[in-house]
Amino acid sequence: MRGLTISAHGGLDRLELRDDLPAPPLASDTQVRVRILAAALNHLDLFVVGGLPNVRIVAPWIIGSDAMGTIEEVGDAVSGLDVGDRVLINPGLSDRTCEYCRAGEQPLCPRFGVLGEHLPGTLTEQIVVPSANVRRVAAETDPVEGAAFTLSTLTAWRMLVSRARVQRGEHVLIWGIGGGVALACLQIAKLLGAYVTVTSGSDAKLERALALGADATINHRGVDVGKEMRARTGKRGVEVVVDSVGEATWGQSLGALGRRGRLVTCGGTSGPMVTTDVRRLFWNQWSILGSTMGNDDEFDAIVGHFRDGRLRPVVDRVYALDDARSAFERMASGEQFGKLVVRIAT
Ligand SMILES: [Zn+2]
Repeated sequence: MRGLTISAHGGLDRLELRDDLPAPPLASDTQVRVRILAAALNHLDLFVVGGLPNVRIVAPWIIGSDAMGTIEEVGDAVSGLDVGDRVLINPGLSDRTCEYCRAGEQPLCPRFGVLGEHLPGTLTEQIVVPSANVRRVAAETDPVEGAAFTLSTLTAWRMLVSRARVQRGEHVLIWGIGGGVALACLQIAKLLGAYVTVTSGSDAKLERALALGADATINHRGVDVGKEMRARTGKRGVEVVVDSVGEATWGQSLGALGRRGRLVTCGGTSGPMVTTDVRRLFWNQWSILGSTMGNDDEFDAIVGHFRDGRLRPVVDRVYALDDARSAFERMASGEQFGKLVVRIAT
């Protein structure tokens, strides 16, 4: 089968489209085999190409974490899913036996793995996953939207709903609107009834965010966003900051945070090492919340909103598998507004 692979870490020139990959067999009776219709990129894919500490790949390694497809084969122990069903795939796999999994908190599993990072990925024609990792959607669902939806929205849902517990009327600040997680956070925060300020270095992206429901915008180039937010809120600060930029923005995020504020993060695209003044942390009674991926209940929740049309991903561009490297180049440029999707089959 065809698939986008790497055989060594490095730059995007390491990406190699191959047509000699073996189709994966079902390895247990609780798995399903999915023919992939479309796959979407995440920032994680760039990290996988570049190489991550403690993650070892086996060449040729298929990359990609998000996908929508059609079930082609169902294990004997699987119920509620049939050949021909169209499904969204949750790329987070867990052992389902440890104390965290038994408590329904699969992303805390010590043996947690992500498709494309720890397990073969989705930028290919077929994949085998546990049946617990797929949810059925309507046959007429657009595979491009389905592929673009899951990982960003699942990540954003856990950040805002389960971790930061955003309440109606609260003020949420979201850095870097244009990325998949930031856009999903905007949509979810509005669904929850929050007042949302978004930042970007691009006025064009800020205009588009307003059209998607953002209440206010800041072009963060040359501006201290912390001071700006305090000025805009009568020195009060905001209740919640979503910061997955890390080193470049952490101090400004804390500057924007009001008393009892919550800062939630799922990454650090500008660098991982941040500094927090512990005196301000305890005096203001802040909460700094880490979050990653999502559990089964959160997956059910976002798929429900997707089926009912309340949450839909923003798609930037769609590429053919032959041209998938162009999608990676656009992601690396940071010019995209929304998800980059690769069409695998029709
Ligand atoms: Zn577990």
